[in-house]
Amino acid sequence: MGVQSISKKKGLGAEATADATGVIDAVIYGRASKDRLRLMRSIGDQIADCRTWCEPLGWRVVDVITDANRSASQWRRKEREGFEEALGLIESGRIQGFVTWEPSRAGRDLAIYVQLRAACQRFGVLYLTQGRVYDFSRPDDSFMMGFEFLRAEADANTMRERQLRTARRNAEKGRPHGRLAYGYRRVYDERTGVLVRQEPDPHTGQIVRDAARDVLAGASMWSVAMRLQDAGEPTPMRPWSEHPRGWDTYTIRHLLQNPTIAGKRVYRGQVIGDAAWEPLISWEDFQKLQRLFADPGRRVRGGGGMPAKTLMVHIARCHYCGRPLKRAVMRRKNKADAVKYHCQFRGCYKTTISQPGLDAYVQEVALAWFERPANLARLTATDGDGDGWLDHAHAVEEELASLQQRLDEAADRYAAGDLPVSMLSRIEQQLRPKIEQAQRALVPPISDENIRALVSAGDVRAAWAELALAEQRKIVKAVFDVRVQRTANRGQNAFEPERVLVAPRV
Ligand SMILES: [Zn+2]
Repeated sequence: MGVQSISKKKGLGAEATADATGVIDAVIYGRASKDRLRLMRSIGDQIADCRTWCEPLGWRVVDVITDANRSASQWRRKEREGFEEALGLIESGRIQGFVTWEPSRAGRDLAIYVQLRAACQRFGVLYLTQGRVYDFSRPDDSFMMGFEFLRAEADANTMRERQLRTARRNAEKGRPHGRLAYGYRRVYDERTGVLVRQEPDPHTGQIVRDAARDVLAGASMWSVAMRLQDAGEPTPMRPWSEHPRGWDTYTIRHLLQNPTIAGKRVYRGQVIGDAAWEPLISWEDFQKLQRLFADPGRRVRGGGGMPAKTLMVHIARCHYCGRPLKRAVMRRKNKADAVKYHCQFRGCYKTTISQPGLDAYVQEVALAWFERPANLARLTATDGDGDGWLDHAHAVEEELASLQQRLDEAADRYAAGDLPVSMLSRIEQQLRPKIEQAQRALVPPISDENIRALVSAGDVRAAWAELALAEQRKIVKAVFDVRVQRTANRGQNAFEPERVLVAPRV
């Protein structure tokens, strides 16, 4: 049923069936979709199959249209440019055959079928799929094809249901069923043992609040960590984690970067809405903290709370793990001590470089960069006058708020079950880079006064030489991202400038 030979079709005598030579001009439409069951054929294979079906029928393929990497389900309706194009070809009257690998390759939505059928009927176009030709002017063909589309649509809906159920289950991991966040405790029903709620822990909750308050007030994370260390407070980390030695800057930062403490639910590392538990700090304070962490010029320290001894210590980073390089003095027999920067992160240890070599090189690159007038303009472009920066910051802040709101709304709709998780992640993929960009644009030019004084000085080098080391470090840290790669000739002490990547942040 529904199978029809091409000669029969010619006999139907529709006005636009074939050209004078009897050849059917056909368009192949293919689309790739992320198929969870991996039963679908690749787009190239689909096209090859379609061509194989066309050949014995004498159909001439005049066009191949594809929509790559897109889902054919009705929830992605706006992404069917290729299908729209194919439909346009049908309606142009220039083709007499439309070919897809299987009905759902044209879309799983019944509305698409109706549209396609109407166009094919109107322009006398035959539909070839799975090696069979359907003629929509015949009621039985029309019925069979409609049935195939209905089935494809039902499959898509089942798939969506399944995705939603999985997503809900996953999101539940962000509720009090998952790992308990530091600062909270769980309350269980005494009789039944059932979880009643998650609430701030009076002791650790207060530690989080105090840490947030102190860091916002300008205290170093190091000093907060040392206070807890001195008090003998157990760390939130498990003993086998990366930081078994007690509280340090990373511990504090890790604590304060967890949206859970601001009463937000997190799914796959992203905030997806308000949580059922009480926040330890306000969302505003939480965001202020994240901006603080993102500010490259925020703090320059020498490690261990001591003043820095050299220009690049804790500023230059390991190219492989991204962690700041530390300084080490190597005592050598019958030779002067060698001072190095090296990556001390366990599991990396990849980078070691000469301290005097790196300092001199970065300083030279920085000064040469500052001396170029075009770079002066780049540094002062956003804050030509004092209010300029503030106006800029307000505008960015508004933009950031509206982007964040859009994301929050999407997350709310998802939480309410109105939005499939695929759509949420797509919205997120679109918004996240914009949000991150806005956050970066909000980073204030911390050492701005000093930088401007430096670059507008008649003699940049003389002005630089007069700055205290701490000021030089602030400027270098605020303006440049410095990464160090490993050496090719292992064990050598020579300094190789090609290992150093210096990138201006502006
Ligand atoms: Zn490293």
